[in-house]
Amino acid sequence: MRTHNLGYPRIGSRRELKKACEAYWAGKQSLTDLLTAGRDIRHQHWQLQQQAGIDLIPCNDFSFYDQVLDMSLMVGAVPQRYAPLITERQLSVTDLMFAMARGYQQDGYDITAMEMTKWFDTNYHYIVPEFTAAQQFSLFSEKAVDEFKEALELQINAKPVLTGPVSYLLLGKEKEAHFSRLDLIDRLLPVYMQLIGKLYDAGARYIQLDEPCLSLNLTDKERQVYAATYGAIRSTFPDLHIILASYFECYGDNLPVALQLPVDTLHLDLVRCPSQLGDILASPLLSDTLQLSLGLVEGRNIWINDYRHSLSLIWEASNKIGANRIWIAPSCSLLHVPCDLSLETNESTLTPAIKQWLAFARQKIDEVVTLQQLSCDTPSPAAKARLDENIRATDSRKTSPLIHNEKVKQRTAQITDADARRQHPFAQRRPKQRAALQLPLFPTTTIGSFPQTKEVRTWRAALKKQEITPEQYDALLKTETEKAIRWQEETGIDVLVHGEFERNDMVEYFGEQLSGFVFTENGWVQSYGSRCVKPPVIYGDVHREAPMTVYWSAYAQSLTNKLVKGMLTGPVTILQWSFVRNDQPRSETCTQIALAIRDEVTDLEQAGIKVIQIDEPAIREGLPLRKENWQAYLQWAVRAFRIAASGVKDETQVHTHMCYSEFNDIIQHIADMDADVITIECSRSQMELLDAFAAFRYPNEIGPGVYDIHSPRVPSVAEMTALMEKAQAVIPADQLWVNPDCGLKTRHWEETRKALIAMVAAARELRQTV
Ligand code: GLN
Ligand code: ZN
Repeated sequence: MRTHNLGYPRIGSRRELKKACEAYWAGKQSLTDLLTAGRDIRHQHWQLQQQAGIDLIPCNDFSFYDQVLDMSLMVGAVPQRYAPLITERQLSVTDLMFAMARGYQQDGYDITAMEMTKWFDTNYHYIVPEFTAAQQFSLFSEKAVDEFKEALELQINAKPVLTGPVSYLLLGKEKEAHFSRLDLIDRLLPVYMQLIGKLYDAGARYIQLDEPCLSLNLTDKERQVYAATYGAIRSTFPDLHIILASYFECYGDNLPVALQLPVDTLHLDLVRCPSQLGDILASPLLSDTLQLSLGLVEGRNIWINDYRHSLSLIWEASNKIGANRIWIAPSCSLLHVPCDLSLETNESTLTPAIKQWLAFARQKIDEVVTLQQLSCDTPSPAAKARLDENIRATDSRKTSPLIHNEKVKQRTAQITDADARRQHPFAQRRPKQRAALQLPLFPTTTIGSFPQTKEVRTWRAALKKQEITPEQYDALLKTETEKAIRWQEETGIDVLVHGEFERNDMVEYFGEQLSGFVFTENGWVQSYGSRCVKPPVIYGDVHREAPMTVYWSAYAQSLTNKLVKGMLTGPVTILQWSFVRNDQPRSETCTQIALAIRDEVTDLEQAGIKVIQIDEPAIREGLPLRKENWQAYLQWAVRAFRIAASGVKDETQVHTHMCYSEFNDIIQHIADMDADVITIECSRSQMELLDAFAAFRYPNEIGPGVYDIHSPRVPSVAEMTALMEKAQAVIPADQLWVNPDCGLKTRHWEETRKALIAMVAAARELRQTV
């Protein structure tokens, strides 16, 4: 039985990669320095895995930006607009790669960046390959070969990792009509062959081809392309050991195809889909020689492995096919977890009691090796001791009072359908809200946050360092909030917000006040390029100990006779942007968060807040990879929102907000959320997103964003009225609100003021016309 790893986080345990890239971009560091920093990170990670005892160590899992972008450069899929950067500017491959990722605005050139999108259901973003009908490929960069040679020099038994050719095409996008990117396989494959040939010549005898698209719903044609492609690779490289890796889901109905591909090892994500092991072992399609890579150690979450459970799966497999056909591995690349738990030293927050349940990438590597050691005939006493320790920690999670709160469990168990329903349907709430709120036609509002200026962030930092007292901090925020209220009054906005100056982040702010959450100091995970996120860890039953936002909302409301909108983050978004406990279904954790938010909603109402917004920008990204699982997810996600929203009387108006999102295929569920008002990001798509609402005859009110907050550009009154007229063409005027696309936290006050003054003017004009 051997071990391998699918990928190690490249960011570095102290975010060395982020720092090196940003210093280079800022011109503070040379290209040589940057390349050296990259090499140091690779060497460190290879050596760390070698010392831990991993048999086959990944290379080319490192990237200065993104592995799919690297693949585009290797096969020469460089979009035409970057050609001058090669021919005229003679950029290095690294600089060209950064130009493709970030755009190039220099010396009279203004070239836009390539698009980026989420990597399956993770929070990692990859750079989407662009294809044209006349697309040609050629071996352009040899990054994978270079890194393999580099590993060889260090005597690392390295396995190059490439995005497989079929997934590479499927993950890209046609930039022209009338062709299918999958048809490019005949042109692409020779370049892959060339690349793999170079790896083979350099001495590589193992290769990992990542084909995560096998986790998706595929068409027959796509499956045929898989079979043909791997058949061709096999016949060109008869004695290269090919490890085919898919992850994040079951192979599902792609299993027959996967099992028949002529590869040497098939990787299985047994964390997301443990049941597929039994199916595969029993399948008549399982050949006598196929090796199985058992993805047992979770690459998507930060919990320790349950060794007893993993060992039982290992036994199951080895009894059937023999230990020599088995690899032990993480479930997917470790890219999605933080680097090293041993850097977490703040015992007052991440207490030893909680820490014993956690494992980051470095610890997960040790787990893989320990599982191997425990699977041999006579495990060493040290390995056995680690098993005992693991059993003790795993069992303590089942009963620890840190995790389990009977009151919370009882309360979630007792939720009734009535708790997930407002007192009356929207049609009856609507006149009551009209009477209570007295809003004009086309009411204006914003999405919540106002510019988080440097000063505001300095105050928070100063408070943390105890350079100012909590009283001073409070006074500073109050002045800022009051300024925002006064300014909104003057501008004539109808429903005001307090500005969210007290918040660092829309999830962290709530997580810090809820029990069951813990925060790390160094638990960074790459989101895209040099951008990292530090998700909170939900380890226990979630419960609200005290009101979280009432203080600021009530303060803001006390300053004005106008309506101030309460501002909360919804349960699905809090769940989606955290590391979630794995000892109960996600739906259960979500329901607990929903109850905490529900209590906050009713407290806000009690405090005199008549309009309350519950942000759910992450509802759509939580959708499962396979369509057959959508219903179940949407059902509990929508229900969680409704539980959060339904504790108030009919007169209280509940808003929700979602960022850029396709609504077409989930519009029924959006309607089922039954928010009185939904605000959506819409301006960049010229109101097209409203078509889904129109076709559905969405009954509740909608605020389609009238200007893009991602840009400092100030929109004109005419632009915004034009957009709203488009909106009115499909949605009745009395259902429409006027607001920006999203929160204004990243903007400056200067452009924010101008844009909102114009927005209010646009609403006033619209009122004249109906
Ligand atoms: N209320 C949040 C804000 O305005 C919403 C942010 C979001 O949707 N991502 O910042
Ligand atoms: Zn938004």
